[in-house]
Amino acid sequence: MAENPPPDDPRRAVPRTDALLAAPPVHAAAERLGRELVKDAVQRVQRRIRAGELPAEDAVDAVLAALPSRPSSLRPVLNATGVLVHTNLGRAPLSPAAVEAVAAASGTTDVELDLATGRRGPRGEAALAALLEAVPEAEAAIVVNNCAAALSLVATALGRDRELVLARGELVEIGDGFRIPDLLEATGARLHEVGTTNRVSPEDYLAAVTDRTGAVLKVHPSNFVVRGFTRVVSVRELAEALAGTGVPLVADIGSGLLRAHPALPDEPALRSALADGADLVLASGDKLLGGPQAGLVLGRADLVQELRRHPLYRALRVDKTTLAALEATLRGPVPPVQQMLGAEPEALMTRARAIAGRLAGAGVDAQVVAADARVGGGGAPEHPLPGAAVSLPGGFAEPLRRGNPPVVGYLEDGRTLLNLRSLAPTDDDALAEAVVEVARRWT
Ligand SMILES: *Cc1c(COP(=O)(O)O)cnc(C)c1O
Repeated sequence: MAENPPPDDPRRAVPRTDALLAAPPVHAAAERLGRELVKDAVQRVQRRIRAGELPAEDAVDAVLAALPSRPSSLRPVLNATGVLVHTNLGRAPLSPAAVEAVAAASGTTDVELDLATGRRGPRGEAALAALLEAVPEAEAAIVVNNCAAALSLVATALGRDRELVLARGELVEIGDGFRIPDLLEATGARLHEVGTTNRVSPEDYLAAVTDRTGAVLKVHPSNFVVRGFTRVVSVRELAEALAGTGVPLVADIGSGLLRAHPALPDEPALRSALADGADLVLASGDKLLGGPQAGLVLGRADLVQELRRHPLYRALRVDKTTLAALEATLRGPVPPVQQMLGAEPEALMTRARAIAGRLAGAGVDAQVVAADARVGGGGAPEHPLPGAAVSLPGGFAEPLRRGNPPVVGYLEDGRTLLNLRSLAPTDDDALAEAVVEVARRWT
């Protein structure tokens, strides 16, 4: 039994849960965020009133203040790291067109239904058509969850109980302990390594090909370069060497460039890998392609069909929102990552001057410095993209990261640098405001 509070006890004044939940702004918040989350906030506010920390008439405002502003705890972050495709920041930001496509496909949608006939239709047909239009060298395509999924599907379908031939210099660890050879072997494929760490020749590959070979795999060494006494075999050389053997050549290019990009002369591309003779090419959707997380598989129709028919494909296929975002990325306006890649250093310098000028006007020690950016996410390792950054005192880095919106920059020589190449120009104002806000709280 609950005890009865004395007449002057603050507990008497505590508003009831159902009354608070029925208050129109609280009710609206519950519709948007979910009843449990709001009820939780109501109960916390009731405890504060009961403890005499809060006057009862402030209950509704306190509940609203205690609520998160959005239903997921993931927050938009301003990426001033100078790393265009930052895995810890969710890689490629989607284009507005892709965001709109995701929203449109989020409800019930005709992903697998032909509305003209009322019959079941091929899943994600439009996204696949967009891919094949963008990469006309490919006969067929499928999309899976990410490039790691594409590799495991290929290794399972073509390499299980068989051998995959792969250069020792391409036994790559991508990051966070993800090692491609471990993934391949986990499928039951046996790796037949050829060459040495620094050198491999077409003859090494040919000597390894037997009737047990399932495929020859080329993996882009996405996050390191080997210099000095080196020899790699290009896709073209390898395709020529393998001609007539009947062994499929699979190229994992990682970054998903459609065609060779002038800013990244050494980065492989989907179109050129197929034109050079790869039978299948694999790439991520959320790196330089600038789309949603996805694994793209393109190439020979018979091989793609074999992958599509494999039972594992069903476990790796993508959802409707990914298909929608991919189609909009391929058909729509140039996505943010590609705009960032193409930004002129002088334009970045102009943006940095405008931001630094505004900050200096607000009394912040802000300077403009030349700064290189990087592709990141396993693309064009070591390749600098020249541009500009706003330089602030070193102490800004942490409060900016903890701010609202959070801004992630980096420290260099004791200064906090905010690199503008990885930030959309439409976010420049928000960046400047975030810095002014941190400076204001400090002084
Ligand atoms: C990034 C990368 C992968 C992994 O791609 P995910 O889409 O993150 O699974 C695989 N191979 C290469 C060469 C890569 O660069």
